[in-house]
Formats: sequence, structure tokens, C-alpha cells
Amino acid sequence: MIETAELTVPKGQELPEIFIPSPEQGQEEDFHSGKIYCANCIHCKLIPMQEGDDRYFLRVRCAAGKWRKKLGEEKMYKYCTITRRYLDECDSYEEMGDTRDFIRELKKTIPNKDEQYVLLQNDS
Ligand code: SF4
Repeated sequence: MIETAELTVPKGQELPEIFIPSPEQGQEEDFHSGKIYCANCIHCKLIPMQEGDDRYFLRVRCAAGKWRKKLGEEKMYKYCTITRRYLDECDSYEEMGDTRDFIRELKKTIPNKDEQYVLLQNDS
């Protein structure tokens, strides 16, 4: 089954960049202390990746340009995987809040699979 949500964008406008929600209080049992979680970095951006005329998937990208494929092309990840992406170090990391709390709350709201969404065009 495909789960959908609605995003209304005026005709002729580009899809908006969506930011990952703000951190809140919480605790996480499989949290890795001392690691850098990209999801809690200001450079980690959530974007809609359009597929076809009216469908899109959610992807995350590193706005600091740290995620690259072997040939230099930018790499993006499925939104549903972002809480599992952590690093030992990153010279561009800019924390947005308490990482443990943020990851715990994000895990409560993040989709557990790569969901497809429907884009609604606004004629105004
Ligand atoms: S700047 Fe570093 S920590 Fe931040 S999203 Fe990019 S790779 Fe992750």
C-alpha cells in the first residue's frame, strides 16, 4: 500500500526545501554516545524529490556538500534512514540541540519506510 500526504505548490514554483523538525526532550536505547548524528546538524536538509508529475519521495542531503559518491556526484539518503546515519567526526558539523533528545523524538515521527507522496498543484 502506498501512503500519501499532500503538498500544495503554486504552478511554476519550485518545490520548497523542508527542514527537519526542531529537537525536543527524549531518550534512545540504541543511541551511540560521542557520535555525530547528521540529522542533528544544521546542514542536514530534508527535500522532496519529485518523480513524475505529481509524486515525490523525501530525501535528505548535506548542504555542506559532504555526502559524495565515488565520482564526486552528490549523494542523498532516504529520509527514513537518517536517524541511523552517524559519523566519528565532521569538520562542518553544527549541532542544533541535544543530540540524544533530538534523535529519540525524530524516531517517533519519521516514516519507517520510503513513502511516496502526492503533489497537488495550486492554480492560483
Ligand atoms: S556537515 Fe557533516 S555532520 Fe552535518 S550533515 Fe553534513 S556530513 Fe553530516
